[in-house]
Amino acid sequence: MDIHEYQAKEILSNFGILVPPGALAYSPEQAIYQARAIGGNQWIVKAQVHAGGRGKAGGVKVCESDYEIQESCENMFGKKLITHQTGPEGKGIYRVYVEAAMQISCEMYLGFVLDRTTQRIMIVASTEGGVEIEDITSNRPNSIIRSTVEPAVGLRDFQAREIAFKLGISSSLIAQMVRTLQGCYLAFRELDATMVEINPLVITNDDRIVALD
Ligand code: ADP
Ligand code: MG
Repeated sequence: MDIHEYQAKEILSNFGILVPPGALAYSPEQAIYQARAIGGNQWIVKAQVHAGGRGKAGGVKVCESDYEIQESCENMFGKKLITHQTGPEGKGIYRVYVEAAMQISCEMYLGFVLDRTTQRIMIVASTEGGVEIEDITSNRPNSIIRSTVEPAVGLRDFQAREIAFKLGISSSLIAQMVRTLQGCYLAFRELDATMVEINPLVITNDDRIVALD
């Protein structure tokens, strides 16, 4: 079962992971209304399609006014988004997610996958977030941290802390990072997931660890 970004964010939020305030919209007018309800003065309008690589394809837009929201929406609704994951036919955009823009100080990659050879959950993390894992693997392989969870004991806090240290997370944010890792692990286990991927997971300028995608 494929789920949309806004659904994944709701799930992760239920597992204690911070996500930006956001809301779904089915028309440009509704998107403007939702942005006002969210508050602030900068929003991200994001096409909800079952494919990654939306940013580069025009499916993720930063907006600072009603006019910009309207314009971004008009370029999305009813159009097809063509990303490297959709194939040339693209995917129709019928809903957008509007969320508060975060002020980012660092973008990370975080993935929980099932390692088929060992039948264990493997955590993959990198300080080079915001780009696809395949690109990180080929361009910055040394930035990748891998850690396998022992099924009998689960993800222990010390293991989560070790991952946080390897990512270079400052000491004041370690506890928050451990909560984020534990939240993903619980989500993976309880929902019997095939993959939990947060890309990017960011540290904001006001020191919060937030899942943006
Ligand atoms: P995709 O992976 O499909 O391109 P993302 O949701 O990852 O889409 O968005 C692309 C980029 O846009 C992110 O890597 C991040 O830099 C930026 N971005 C996404 N959501 C937000 C947000 N709420 N605030 C600030 N920047 C964002
Ligand atoms: Mg992304």
